[in-house]
Amino acid sequence: DRKDIATPTRTKEILEKYGFSFKKSLGQNFIVEPNILTKIVQAAGLDKETNVIEVGPGIGALTEHLGRAAHQVMAFEIDDRLLPVLADTLSPYDNIKIVHSDILKANLPALVAENFSDEGRLMVVANLPYYITTPIIMHFLASEVKIDGLVIMMQKEVADRITAKPGTKAYGSLSIAIQYYMTAEVAFIVPKTVFMPQPNVDSAIIRLTRRAVPAVTVQNEVHFFKLVKGAFVQRRKTLWNNLLATYGKEPAVKEALEQALQVSGIDAKRRGETLTVAEFGKLSDAIYQFLS
Ligand code: SAM
Repeated sequence: DRKDIATPTRTKEILEKYGFSFKKSLGQNFIVEPNILTKIVQAAGLDKETNVIEVGPGIGALTEHLGRAAHQVMAFEIDDRLLPVLADTLSPYDNIKIVHSDILKANLPALVAENFSDEGRLMVVANLPYYITTPIIMHFLASEVKIDGLVIMMQKEVADRITAKPGTKAYGSLSIAIQYYMTAEVAFIVPKTVFMPQPNVDSAIIRLTRRAVPAVTVQNEVHFFKLVKGAFVQRRKTLWNNLLATYGKEPAVKEALEQALQVSGIDAKRRGETLTVAEFGKLSDAIYQFLS
């Protein structure tokens, strides 16, 4: 067994050797506790039939664990100062490919076709740069590449919103946008002390697993997401007020909205945060029908 990168001593050695200084603006907080990495690999259920995409390998702490457990690994790193470091630390692994790119600008279908020798199970496993957590998740969910699941570290506060259930304070349009495609659960909480440098916020690992079909079947997805977003614009207001703000206050629109609420069996005085995904789906179809 090789010596882990993710210990405070080894990490400091590597950083000193390359004169590396952390960039806060790139969300650079490196893991220096190998047990966390073992737990991440377990949570992702990696095996030699699974390919992995990683975002932000840093100096390779998580990457080497992925390389040991998975079939092939492709890791996207934006910071060019880390390329020589990674070439060094990951030299023992011939199944790891580093791509120098902003993950949000990467052409995933082309790179997946180019770098993975076969189409097995595909997971995203990463300790995300926190300043773009949501855009990264949306980038993967919107991609043509079929990702089977994501096991990702993020701020605990964002993890709570993504995994929230109806009727809770954390439940909102982000919960629904993700739970529409994926089941979402917090795998475990991670203390600040496992990072170098330590972030100001608590972290959590979440596990997203793709549903065979979306959580609800709707006539028009674009309209469904417009409704969901609109229902949470002003959280403290009733569903009715948010609907008027979203669709307009003209008498014909009001009438259509009233009818839609009635056939969906949803009380206009409720707040958006109490509606389940299924209720949003029903309401979306009804509004779509009565407004067109
Ligand atoms: N995986 C390492 C670990 O766990 O120790 C480092 C994780 S660190 C939280 C986030 C990493 O993402 C950094 O290496 C940073 O340079 C990289 N990064 C930041 N923005 C990025 C982007 N847009 N695309 C790709 N990588 C990015």
